[in-house]
Amino acid sequence: MSLQCAHCYKSFSIAKVNDSRGKGLSVEVQCPHCAAWLGHNKLLSIAKMFGFYGGVVAAVVGYFFDNVASITTPLIILAVIIVGLSHIMDHLQLIEAPENDPSTEPGAK
Ligand SMILES: [Zn+2]
Repeated sequence: MSLQCAHCYKSFSIAKVNDSRGKGLSVEVQCPHCAAWLGHNKLLSIAKMFGFYGGVVAAVVGYFFDNVASITTPLIILAVIIVGLSHIMDHLQLIEAPENDPSTEPGAK
């Protein structure tokens, strides 16, 4: 799995990340090229999780109960769309710019 840095735009492997902080949805990783802290959009991660579990619950309910297919089928389709969209939109965001970076110094531009 390859990630792209939101600060220096270089791509790197998740295995090359030697520093990370936080847990679960708020986990952040440090770019091995420029040392910027990167993280995922929490709202998208939450939407993805809700979409995934919503779809699973709808599928289970539709499997065990009769006459609910008119409700559960659209719910499953909606869940698949939510998970797909949040997956496409989910990319790393810059959480904290690296220290001693000339581009963040005042008056550098
Ligand atoms: Zn970087």
